[in-house]
Amino acid sequence: GKHVCECDACYGGSDCSEFLPGCVADADSGDPMFLEPFWLKHAASSVIVLPGWHRMSYEFNDGSLISKELETQIRKLHAVIGNAVTDGRFIIFGAGATQLLHAAVHALSTNDPSSPSRVVASTPYYPVYREQTEFFNSEDYKFKGDTSLYNNERDSQGNFIELVTSPNNPDGQLKKAVLQGPSVRTIHDLAYYWPHYTPIPAPADEDLMIFTLSKLTGHGGSRFGWAIIKDETVYQRMLIYISLSTYGVPRETQLRVLKLLKVALEREGKEMFDFGYKTMRNRWRKLSETMSMSKRFSIQELEPKRCSFHKKVRGPSPAFAWLKCEREEDNDCNVVLNSVNVTGRDGSLFGAESRFVRLSLVKCEDDFDLLLKRMQMLVSEENDST
Ligand code: PMP
Repeated sequence: GKHVCECDACYGGSDCSEFLPGCVADADSGDPMFLEPFWLKHAASSVIVLPGWHRMSYEFNDGSLISKELETQIRKLHAVIGNAVTDGRFIIFGAGATQLLHAAVHALSTNDPSSPSRVVASTPYYPVYREQTEFFNSEDYKFKGDTSLYNNERDSQGNFIELVTSPNNPDGQLKKAVLQGPSVRTIHDLAYYWPHYTPIPAPADEDLMIFTLSKLTGHGGSRFGWAIIKDETVYQRMLIYISLSTYGVPRETQLRVLKLLKVALEREGKEMFDFGYKTMRNRWRKLSETMSMSKRFSIQELEPKRCSFHKKVRGPSPAFAWLKCEREEDNDCNVVLNSVNVTGRDGSLFGAESRFVRLSLVKCEDDFDLLLKRMQMLVSEENDST
């Protein structure tokens, strides 16, 4: 086959056609390169041209930092796909969901160092929530681990900021907020709430929702995300954060995103979203089939659900496999995987045990094929020896 662009990590030689046998199947990062074939096919219609004198100013002509045309396109995108309500909501742009997550934690925290807001998430959770909150080391909020520790606490216990990831990274489950009450604020990280990765039961209608271009079109390197916000005060506080940290998202990026979204929405999104879903579904089917023959390993179970975008019940197509090593002695699952040159992300980073490992299913076809082959080897070794 043809090996192109960023998808040839395990191929060498002058024309990138030679397979490198000792190569590691790296299933660690969640870089959604699986969409590259779609963009190769639409190479011409997705081009942007940007002469040196274009878009030089800090601001758009109306003095704002965000392109109104792009904002309109994003509202249209959610209306067509049916995954989020945007009517009457504020929209803000950031350098990926990464920047917006912190902007949101800042905006929802109490300005009261004597009782810092407690930032929590349900285990297993996306590691950046903890890493980022601890790194910024604010007096206004502290990372306080798993939501289940606080199920029974009452309002007098201070303020909570609950991060809800739906579908969840790492296990692909659709999630709801766990904590309730007047002292709880929630941030819904909906990075994967697209038909590629999950059935869409209904449009999300939460107070603060974060989306990212990276998981939607695969352009992680453009560093673009957006937040949809109900409350004007929260919106204003997030704007201040963006304004003081980066003074907005590069206008070049905004131009590229507008072009990409226009192509993504051609024929009501049919082509890109069908390609995304079918690719992820086929990968999940192949991996599930392999893992179903194992007793040593298991992966998460996901229910078929009705999808309002596809207008039917559809099977799972998650971005990650959440692999468990079942044997008592395999308490470090990555060590077991490393024995066949596979590497995933250690469960302990997600607040779980190291007998869990997250395997990325969103990379290039070659990466997935190699991962699958090595997992098949592991499972057949197990069945040969029993
Ligand atoms: N939230 C979740 C749940 C993610 O998995 C990721 C990317 N791995 C992000 C946020 C960050 O996305 P971005 O590339 O937009 O910064």
